Amino acid sequence: MTVAAPRIGIVGSGIAGLRAAQSVLTCEAGARITVFGDEAHRTYNRPGLTKKRYPPSADLRAAITEDLRVKGAETSALDWHLGTRVEAADLRNRVLHLSTGGTFDYDGLVVASGVRPRTAAGDDEECASHAHRTLRGLDDAHSIHQELHRREVVTIAGAGFVACELASLAKEYGCDVVMLEAMRHGPFENILGEDVARALGRWVTANGVTLLTGEAAKELLCDRSGRSSEGGHPASPPEAASERPLFIEAIGSVPNVEWLDGNGLDLSDGVRVDEYMRVPECEGVFAAGDIARYPDPWGTENLTRMEFWKNAIDTGNVAGKALAWSLGYGLKMSRISYFPSMATEVFGLRIQIAGNPRNADSMEIVSGDLERPDDGILVTYLRESAIVGAAYLDKGARFNRLYIELLKSLKTR
Ligand SMILES: Cc1cc2nc3c(=O)[nH]c(=O)nc-3n(C[C@H](O)[C@H](O)[C@H](O)COP(=O)(O)OP(=O)(O)OC[C@H]3O[C@@H](n4cnc5c(N)ncnc54)[C@H](O)[C@@H]3O)c2cc1C
Repeated sequence: MTVAAPRIGIVGSGIAGLRAAQSVLTCEAGARITVFGDEAHRTYNRPGLTKKRYPPSADLRAAITEDLRVKGAETSALDWHLGTRVEAADLRNRVLHLSTGGTFDYDGLVVASGVRPRTAAGDDEECASHAHRTLRGLDDAHSIHQELHRREVVTIAGAGFVACELASLAKEYGCDVVMLEAMRHGPFENILGEDVARALGRWVTANGVTLLTGEAAKELLCDRSGRSSEGGHPASPPEAASERPLFIEAIGSVPNVEWLDGNGLDLSDGVRVDEYMRVPECEGVFAAGDIARYPDPWGTENLTRMEFWKNAIDTGNVAGKALAWSLGYGLKMSRISYFPSMATEVFGLRIQIAGNPRNADSMEIVSGDLERPDDGILVTYLRESAIVGAAYLDKGARFNRLYIELLKSLKTR
């Protein structure tokens, strides 16, 4: 009698899910892996959603989809169940409940369901004053690029990297852009601190954005109840969404954990895992990507959850190896050794961030002038006098020897 190979379920068809699957396949080419994704698309390059303007003549849907292809996603070694949401999981009995009404029994599971945009009110609330949008997926991007073509004005709530990239993109499309940052003084303040945020605020303003902060921003924020904070409902009857002012919310994200409720997991901020991406409360379950909260290999904080592409790749690989090992496929597991680094570009200014500046108690401008970020600014972030992070801002992404040396010293700590 032959014994059927174990069944592996992966929830989330993003890069973390794909990498976990590829990692298992590297250990056992014949592994039986099913990927569930509530989007209709196979894995694509999510960071690319905000990086490029498309000409009006382009078949937007086709052009964006083509540009964002990810190598390996076309594989037929995986059983893809797209447009299928996992509604609930019974981890004790190893069963997933699907939006199709069916169930899926698994032997090993990877949780890679990522995050979704945070909104001021419930996800699906409609508003009579604005056409509200958020940007997370390919379908959101298709419609936002299309809207930016035809709109003259766009309001963006938030000043994080998605908000800033969207502001840049909207200006390229020729829109007037209003950015609202009610809580802080400018872009990236929660990561790079107030001084750099103010400098970045001046930079986006110099590039034609109307950046409103504090009370001025609060007055224009909309909670989707049909009124702005100034109060009052619109006097005239609601127009069609296509006629209402465009209001994009880019105010952070929420981990997609609800389908795991009722299993006794720590879901306080994503899914808590150990350094091998194993969910401690539950044998055979692993998590990876934006949703995984793991022991910080860098030791700057206890547990860390990162929302970066490279982090999703690295944690996906680790989770896949650990899962393969648990099924007797792999020879060894590897711990997460992720070194945080990311880059973004805002109106031509490249912003590179490494380490964990959020954990600093002071900062130092090593070179450059905050009044002229385009000439290059190198900033170090320190905790108890030790460097825990660095940032380099420059127009044209020139090579910076000091930054590279800093990175090397941070990595080898
Ligand atoms: C506009 C934008 C720009 C970005 N730019 C950068 C950048 O420049 N650099 C960078 O490092 N990072 C960037 N990021 C972040 C990066 O894209 C993410 O860190 C990465 O994609 C996370 O991958 P993931 O697989 O963990 O999650 P995701 O890519 O979010 O994949 C999770 C998938 O699971 C699906 N899902 C959720 N719940 C369920 C369920 N119950 N059942 C089935 N499927 C489910 C989701 O719909 C999604 O398709 C950007 C993100 C966005 C949105």
